[in-house]
Amino acid sequence: MLQDKDRIFTNLYGAHSPGLEEAKKRGAWHLTREMLAQGPDWLCDQIKASGLRGRGGAGFPTGLKWTFMPKEVKADREHYLVVNADESEPGTCKDREIMRHDPHLLIEGCMVASRAMRAHKCYVYIRGEYIAEREALEKAVKEAYEAKLIGQNNVNGWDFDLYVHHGAGAYICGEETALLESLEGKKGQPRLKPPFPANAGLYGKPTTVNNVESIAVVPTILRRGADWFAGFGRPNNTGTKLFCVSGHVNKPCNVEEEMSITFRDLIDTHCGGIRGGWDNLKAVIPGGSSVPMVPAEQIADAYMDFDTLRDLKSGLGTAAVIVMDKSTDLIQAIARIAYFYKHESCGQCTPCREGTGWMWRVLTRMAKGEAEMDEIDMLLDVAGQVEGHTICALGDAAAWPVQGLIRHFRHEIEDRITQYRAPHTQVQGSTLVAAE
Ligand code: SF4
Repeated sequence: MLQDKDRIFTNLYGAHSPGLEEAKKRGAWHLTREMLAQGPDWLCDQIKASGLRGRGGAGFPTGLKWTFMPKEVKADREHYLVVNADESEPGTCKDREIMRHDPHLLIEGCMVASRAMRAHKCYVYIRGEYIAEREALEKAVKEAYEAKLIGQNNVNGWDFDLYVHHGAGAYICGEETALLESLEGKKGQPRLKPPFPANAGLYGKPTTVNNVESIAVVPTILRRGADWFAGFGRPNNTGTKLFCVSGHVNKPCNVEEEMSITFRDLIDTHCGGIRGGWDNLKAVIPGGSSVPMVPAEQIADAYMDFDTLRDLKSGLGTAAVIVMDKSTDLIQAIARIAYFYKHESCGQCTPCREGTGWMWRVLTRMAKGEAEMDEIDMLLDVAGQVEGHTICALGDAAAWPVQGLIRHFRHEIEDRITQYRAPHTQVQGSTLVAAE
């Protein structure tokens, strides 16, 4: 269990001012100049040694990603850091708290990470719906400029400019290459990879895109040491992590905890337990709406980390933990999620454009029981044809929840279809009732 002295985000709940003076008292902007003076190789090595894995969903090692940037800055090929603050994965609400309540940790992290990648410019691409968050971040950026912590000839010795860019509100702009397109003023549609952003990113120049939380933890890791961060969690799954717990728990919350805490400890310690008790737990979506659900008996005592959840055929994703008790109509829930991905598909690739709508329509019928039994396998087949056959990961994100539902709760779909066909029942909404 994480102790208060080991928390990185000590103002997560906004109990104190997000302003510069208060942020400094909490530790921000301490030893920044000394960190920057160590140079890119040292910075990358420290982050690699800490074991930090990207907090935006994919869990790719952050320090390693930084080393993909060219070692030299060529003329007309300046480097960029782009911070992904689009946070649109349903269930996820952690980065907004950092930007609202601890923005100086993020700004300082942007500067340090930029130094590690030899970048003098950083763009924070913030979600269109995040108005208050953008205002809070812009206020903090202004403070940092006025205090000469950032900008040209700043006190920290690395010329650095930071721009906050407000998106228009589209889930797909959280995909890194769609984000870059949008930042360039174009329609936010993902690019084919390769080339990867480290070679040809923003304006065709070397760029790294990192999540807000990944960047905001960097200064504290460097101040307290890579070993300190690596001391939390299990091997390959280290550090502290912000979990966003929603759904059928007694006290939904955002909380910073040690990676690899068990699901049971997370819920009992911070969320007041499962609504109606642990026997009432049905399933959990552990990493935002795009990862497959895990049934109660498998998740209850599982470690909440990348490797454990991958072994359970799901994922830690953004650590947006959506808890569903036995009152949940899982077919209806996944149909609703399918609608979201259908709505957010950018339409470039046929399997995603057509498949997301197809899956949503079938699931909507299935939620009522209006389907044939062999459509369950057909749905699974179509999900498999979408997964891995598209330009970006939205196709996977649409297919995985469907696959998770059928993998673990196929019997519920079959029962629904059987009951719908039974002469003595009828369906009202998604509920079966006795016929008149
Ligand atoms: Fe667009 Fe979907 Fe293709 Fe991604 S997978 S590029 S969202 S159509």
